[in-house]
Amino acid sequence: MAKDKLIGVDLGGTTIKFAILTDEGEVQQKWSIQTNVLDGGKYIVPDIIESINHHLDIYQLDRNRVIGIGLGTPGTVNIAEGTVKGAYNLNWATEQPVKEAIEAGTGFSLKIDNDANVAALGEAWKGAGNNDDDVSFITLGTGVGGGLVANGQLIHGAGGAGGEVGHIIVEPNGYLCTCGNRGCLEQYASATGVVHLAQDFAEQYVGQSRLKQMIDNGDEVTSKIIFDLAKDGDFLANETVNKVAYYLGYASAMIANTLNPSAIVIGGGVAAAGEFLRERVEKDWKPFAFPTVRTSTRIKLAELGNDAGVIGAASLAR
Ligand SMILES: [Zn+2]
Repeated sequence: MAKDKLIGVDLGGTTIKFAILTDEGEVQQKWSIQTNVLDGGKYIVPDIIESINHHLDIYQLDRNRVIGIGLGTPGTVNIAEGTVKGAYNLNWATEQPVKEAIEAGTGFSLKIDNDANVAALGEAWKGAGNNDDDVSFITLGTGVGGGLVANGQLIHGAGGAGGEVGHIIVEPNGYLCTCGNRGCLEQYASATGVVHLAQDFAEQYVGQSRLKQMIDNGDEVTSKIIFDLAKDGDFLANETVNKVAYYLGYASAMIANTLNPSAIVIGGGVAAAGEFLRERVEKDWKPFAFPTVRTSTRIKLAELGNDAGVIGAASLAR
């Protein structure tokens, strides 16, 4: 029987998402389980194996049709060895032999990469990237991650840090980043970064603003509240969003001037602000973009949402 099925696994700190896809990338089955991070995360890999084997039985899928499994994971991935370490939200501090264990437990070959990279592959293949060979992806969540697809391949770099677009410096000597440098994009365009910017703006602003009132009152302010207030016309919220868009535009131009992708795809929770954010980034990146890049690279919103991970992971197994 011809091999025509892919299995994608998106391993996260709270859930593990699974999908069975055709080799063309059509999702046929999806399910998820909770991530059991107890006891140093030692149940995670056995749970993945059990869940895959169990669902292949439920769906009565002939195992001979499975091409392989692709998996996206947090942490530092050794792609050649198929190991993961430093995935602290999984309680995986030390090196975990993920590939070896899952291959032994399922009988399928496994390819592995980090979660932002597989999401980039998903968007490039079946999402906003339209299956182009050159697509860059920025994801705005609790942090800022990304993945760069060039000539149809993920860029990993000499030390595996290729595509760490969250640490492009957009404000020299700016906010201190968890990486130790100052002024990284992540400190301005992540969910917490947006709030940090708003708090600083609120301190200097003396006019009328609901956002300023909330911050001065010590109310809980989230990036979603800031974007919602901006859409309602709040001055301070709009100043904040404009600055976030400026930094994203600047970083997008740095990526685009280097790689000239067909699209820079912006996704993640903060990007739920949608066209409201995208159109500002579009306006702000142009002054920094090289002329040829300005006309051939487009700023787009991600299209796959939570499915980008499993779809991109599955594409690793192709
Ligand atoms: Zn950084």
